[in-house]
Formats: sequence, C-alpha cells, structure tokens
Amino acid sequence: MRAVVLCFSGLDPSGGAGLQADIEAIGSSGAHAAVACSAITIQSSQQVFGFEASSASLVRDQALAVLNDLPVAAIKSGMLGTTDNIAMLASLFKDGAIAANTPFVLDPVLVANSGGSLGDEATLVTAFADLIPYATLLTPNTHELRALSGQQDLHEGAKKLCAQGAKAVLVKTSHDFDSGDIDQYLYVEGEMVHHSILPRLEGEFHGSGCSLASYIAGRLAQGDALIDAIKAADNWMQTILAAADQPHSQEANSQLIPNRFADRQP
Ligand code: PLP
Repeated sequence: MRAVVLCFSGLDPSGGAGLQADIEAIGSSGAHAAVACSAITIQSSQQVFGFEASSASLVRDQALAVLNDLPVAAIKSGMLGTTDNIAMLASLFKDGAIAANTPFVLDPVLVANSGGSLGDEATLVTAFADLIPYATLLTPNTHELRALSGQQDLHEGAKKLCAQGAKAVLVKTSHDFDSGDIDQYLYVEGEMVHHSILPRLEGEFHGSGCSLASYIAGRLAQGDALIDAIKAADNWMQTILAAADQPHSQEANSQLIPNRFADRQP
C-alpha cells in the first residue's frame, strides 16, 4: 500500500487547518494519512471559539489501532491540546510502540494563526521538552520558536531546540506579517544547512503550517531525504496558497483557505 503517515491532530470544522489539512496534504504528497484525533475545535475561518481535547487514552488507543494494523512510515503531530497528550505521544516513542527510526515531523502548535488559544501555552511549552528529542524535524513558526526556546533571535532559538534534542529545525518567518519575503532556515544538528527566500503571497492563510509539515512528513514516509522533502513541500505550498479560497471580502478578518488540490485541477 502507499506509505502511511500517522498524524496526531485536531479537527477544524472550517476545513482549513488541523486533521483535514493533514489528510489533504499527505494525500497530495502521494502517501496515505491515518489520524488519531487529539481534539475537536470550534472555529471558523475567522476565529477559534473553543475546543475539547480528547483524553490521552482515547488518542493512544486510536494510534495503537493504526500502529498494529498499517505499515506506518512516518509520524506527524499538530495540535495536541493538553500536556497529557504530549506526554502520551512521547511514551509511544519511549516504549517502542512507534519504531525508533520512524521519521517524526513535530509541528509544535500552541495558538491558531488567528490568535485563538489551542491549549494552555505555558504548560504545553514545558511538556514539549519531553517530545522534542524524538523529532526528526521540528517546524515552529517564529512565535512557537521563541516560546519553546526562550530565545528572541531565530538562529539562537533554532540552535537551542537542536540542543534540546530535535534532529532538525525548520524556521519560517511566514507568520511575521510585517516582514517582506519569507525566510526559511533549516538547522540540522545545530548547524544551518539551508536558507531559502520565498515570495510572500498576499493574505493570511489558515492551515499553512499544518499543510507544510504534513506534506514533508508524506515525502519522508516515501523515502525522500529531508532537504528534498522540504523543497518539494515549498513548491507545492506556493501552488496551493496562490490558489487559496477567500471566504469573505478582503476587509473581513478572515483567513484564506489553501486549495490543496490546486495541482490536480484542469
Ligand atoms: N491544528 C488545528 C486543529 C488548528 O485549528 C490550527 C489552527 O487553527 C492549527 C493546527 C494550526 O494551524 P496553522 O497551520 O495555521 O498554524
């Protein structure tokens, strides 16, 4: 069967972010997505109204059902919602339920792009310290990078997260809306190995971080080297963001929804 990526993610009913973004991105990358649902959020393209996290045992049992059944070739996590869910995922690695050499893309979701809470930031940050050592690739936005590393400087922050155990860290300035083009830095084992500059498209996008991390996980599951997976994901992102849907007029405080099938449409 196609390479399988097991995702741990939350449901976003607007379909822009979360598990739907993961399923569409992983499918687009050529892999198959299986999902352990870690939370159900209440949100629109404009704001988060609330969420209910799944219990750690519920998420664990979903994950084990998949791990005992399908040939899981990569793991991706997004919104986990509670410190218990973060600790539970770390324990799946620690106990060997997830094979040690399985690539793991960790998108350390703390808040939604729209600013809405997706968990208690301070306690999530503390709990992530136990999960970060299992990450093949950490994909923080600049807010998450600063919160997790305690460093203001992006380069120092990336180095610190490598020192905390992440094998690689991909830093993007995409959420810094006052910056011009988007800088993307890849740190591997504390060294910057790649820097790319991507054009900034107009508008704010809902689920762009989820899409990027999931597409990379899909390519890693299929055997791509890390740098090739990231370059393929960057190209795909430009296509799906350029074709994003705008649910409201430009004046409304609404984010655009990436069209993750844009590369398949005639
Ligand atoms: N996961 C869920 C369930 C979300 O609702 C969100 C944001 O709304 C995210 C992840 C992170 O989204 P983004 O990719 O926009 O950072």
